[in-house]
Amino acid sequence: MTILNENYLKLPGSYLFSTIAKRVAAYKEGHPGAQVISLGIGDVSRPLVPAVVEALHKASDEMGRAETFRGYGPEQGYAFLREAILKHDYLDRGITLAADEIFVSDGAKSDVANFQELFDVSSQVALQDPVYPVYLDTNVMAGRTGAFENGRFGGIVYLPCTEENQFTPQLPAQRADLVYLCSPNNPTGSAMTRAELKKWVDWAAANRSVILYDSAYEAFITQADVPHSIYEIPGAEKVAVEFRSFSKTAGFTGTRCAYTVVPKALQVYDKSGAAHALNALWLRRQTTKFNGVPYVVQRAAEAVFSPEGQAQIREVIAGYQQNAQVILKALQSAGLTAFGGVNAPYIWLKTPQGVDSWAFFDQLLTRAQVVGTPGVGFGSCGEGYFRLTAFNTPQLTQEAARRLAEMTF
Ligand SMILES: *Cc1c(COP(=O)(O)O)cnc(C)c1O
Repeated sequence: MTILNENYLKLPGSYLFSTIAKRVAAYKEGHPGAQVISLGIGDVSRPLVPAVVEALHKASDEMGRAETFRGYGPEQGYAFLREAILKHDYLDRGITLAADEIFVSDGAKSDVANFQELFDVSSQVALQDPVYPVYLDTNVMAGRTGAFENGRFGGIVYLPCTEENQFTPQLPAQRADLVYLCSPNNPTGSAMTRAELKKWVDWAAANRSVILYDSAYEAFITQADVPHSIYEIPGAEKVAVEFRSFSKTAGFTGTRCAYTVVPKALQVYDKSGAAHALNALWLRRQTTKFNGVPYVVQRAAEAVFSPEGQAQIREVIAGYQQNAQVILKALQSAGLTAFGGVNAPYIWLKTPQGVDSWAFFDQLLTRAQVVGTPGVGFGSCGEGYFRLTAFNTPQLTQEAARRLAEMTF
């Protein structure tokens, strides 16, 4: 008899997006011809920019010629891409790092999911509520939690992010070894200021904790007091791992390229108290379990950093930012309170008094034919909130906004 990993049985099943799909399908069946617009998608809608497509073509041609063909590449990524990331995202911003502290991968989701395996199963995990589900579910799978009861897993330190604290995670009273922070945040659209993030870096240094910092939405930051990288905070290189992705920045959700920064100064401890560099452990893990990102994709990612690539992606991001403004204005007209949308492509609105997340979902669908995501799907502190995204086309976003603005609650 083969026994399974029973931790998987603790997972309550991912009902959120399947429930949404079912409700939308049922509505469409009852209302043929209704034009339903989704502001629920966490995927981009604009295509790859020309500089990226050109690089893909060129690299594909190289792969078809014997003189320039490439087989297995370095698991951590080609030097040309690691150097481009280093220069553009760090050195040019005054952050000192080295290329061998950057690990290219096929996704921030996979890296953030895999990273927890470097730590002992007894490690205490803290994460935001509401939260991007990957941080939580992967720790459940690894056996770091108890059972799921009343919307929460035993053994997790939840950091409530609500209107009262401006959706900013506060330092926990209890010990935490691993802290997941996502800023700019999915789903709330809020972003931590330099001062808020500094509190966490100082706390982690004092407690020998590790911060796993997801900045997948860094490119959407507009405010000067919001750091683009955690390494803008002095001492962060001793306590933090940073996850970044080309997915939302450059439309790579289907092309797949991301990177993770593991500074060599970041140390963790064995049970005897001896220190070990996390960088060496992650290198060992990646070289054993991962074979790298396709050469053509890494050339495409490199092209994002060219002057043309930068100009082109800035225009795409500006389009999404414009969508966010359109949605925010419409919600204001409808008399709703909304947050986010300034440093992130997500808008987090407060449902009207007495209307829970799912009831609001139904109201929006039946009265405006607009689909969004119930906040409670991201954690119990998301109850009473609702997420809209700025990733649809300008045309459909404007039409959805027109309908939203006409609603009264
Ligand atoms: C979209 C997203 C990512 C990016 O994941 P990829 O695997 O790189 O596509 C990472 N973190 C969060 C919170 C996201 O929403």
